[in-house]
Amino acid sequence: MTAADAYAELVRRAKELGVLNSCAAVLGWDQQTYMPTHGVGLRGDQLAFLAGLAHAKATDPKVGELLAAVEGSDLVADPESDAAANVRELRRGYDRSTKLPTALVEELARVTTAAQQAWQQAKAANDFPAFRPHLEKVVALKRQEAQAVGYADHPYNALLDEYEPGATVAEVREVFAGLTRDLVPLIRAIGASGKKPDRSVLERDYPVERQKVFAEAAAAAFGFDFAAGRLDTTAHPFCSGVGPGDCRITTRYNPRFFSEAFFGVLHETGHALYEQNLPAEHFGTPLGAACSLGIHESQSRLWENQVGRGRAFWGHFFPRLRQTFPTALAGVEFDRFYFAVNEVRPSLIRVEADEATYNLHVALRFELELGLVSGDLAVADLPGAWNERFKALLGLDVPDDTRGCLQDIHWSFGGIGYFPTYTLGNLYAAQLMSAARRALGGTDATDADFSRGEFGRLKSWLTENIHRHGQRFRAGELCRRATGEPLSARPFVSYLNEKFGPLYGVC
Ligand code: ZN
Repeated sequence: MTAADAYAELVRRAKELGVLNSCAAVLGWDQQTYMPTHGVGLRGDQLAFLAGLAHAKATDPKVGELLAAVEGSDLVADPESDAAANVRELRRGYDRSTKLPTALVEELARVTTAAQQAWQQAKAANDFPAFRPHLEKVVALKRQEAQAVGYADHPYNALLDEYEPGATVAEVREVFAGLTRDLVPLIRAIGASGKKPDRSVLERDYPVERQKVFAEAAAAAFGFDFAAGRLDTTAHPFCSGVGPGDCRITTRYNPRFFSEAFFGVLHETGHALYEQNLPAEHFGTPLGAACSLGIHESQSRLWENQVGRGRAFWGHFFPRLRQTFPTALAGVEFDRFYFAVNEVRPSLIRVEADEATYNLHVALRFELELGLVSGDLAVADLPGAWNERFKALLGLDVPDDTRGCLQDIHWSFGGIGYFPTYTLGNLYAAQLMSAARRALGGTDATDADFSRGEFGRLKSWLTENIHRHGQRFRAGELCRRATGEPLSARPFVSYLNEKFGPLYGVC
């Protein structure tokens, strides 16, 4: 078999697997939105059946033979060619799934299923000791996973690589250290400021039907294609890129709090614009898939925060918002509303945190995960370590583990190494936005677009520099090409200072 034939067969198999996974994605979306309660048993069987088929296809030894036949051939000599990028990432996925012993995969599935249930109960009852043995098992298995996959320097690298291929503990540590050093004093200064927003303007009657119409209008203005996607309601909002022509986003409406659904929709729209603008012809192969979780999150955060919480955006949308909700916003001036949607206030819960304090929640989890994985931190000591570091970083006493180390689902499903991608996303978002503004004529020119409700030039820049590349480059390289610099916390810190300095009268 020639290298070209082997590559064609690899692509055919990858596309077939892409179709199979897209079937599971539709079933998963339906489960979270419209499936009747009693359908849960059959749905579990359907998804397990598809997962089994997908796993068998992904780990078929024939894939290893085909990869070996292409690697080293002229076809992949240019590392930026379609074939080289696809083969590099298919190899990465194949190695990762075949290096894990079946017994370990099954044990992880069994332990994390029980751990998720135990976590739910322990969180509700503020009972860390009940969750502790489950988390100990999860950590032990994740350490075994790191050994099986292999790593340099730190076992956490093997876990991080699953979510952010190519990122390393050393780099992420350095980025987080710089970020924390700059954020802590800024947040302290904001806390000490006498200027406070009036968040009550967001906590009034906002009828759900009108919220829906308004959010859909904003998503459409950003460029979400409703002929190639849907917006529905769910308990835990998400974006599911089923495949070309079909991307599902979801939200959760709160009739007494405007921000929850609206900024959630902007966030998921950012994810969706990435999915809708991946190159359809490469669907199923790495070139047709998102680069990393960090880059994915950069797209959601860019639209949600960099654009959606900006003055220019609200310059266009606030008059329309007042028309849509004349009672809730009667007598509310632009500046009062703008300050309310940009409140910075240290709080206990990560998912409710503002764009400045959010990253300290993530820095804390990253530190603790490193300790758990290296063995320097025992699971038994987790609540104490959490509360101590939380106080140091955010200045708050943690009243109970429910609002402390039990608040997130991630550790119960084995998602150790996932958290850093949230902050990497925020940092990439600021750096990309800054580069996009420069490329599009500067801050005034891009703000002029936004204040007219026009976002097409920004979306095109993101498609050109991020979306269309799929996994052609790793995240660090993609960032360097798009912005001219490696990832740094500086653009994000500058953005925060420029925005919150005047609002709070600090810096
Ligand atoms: Zn997200």
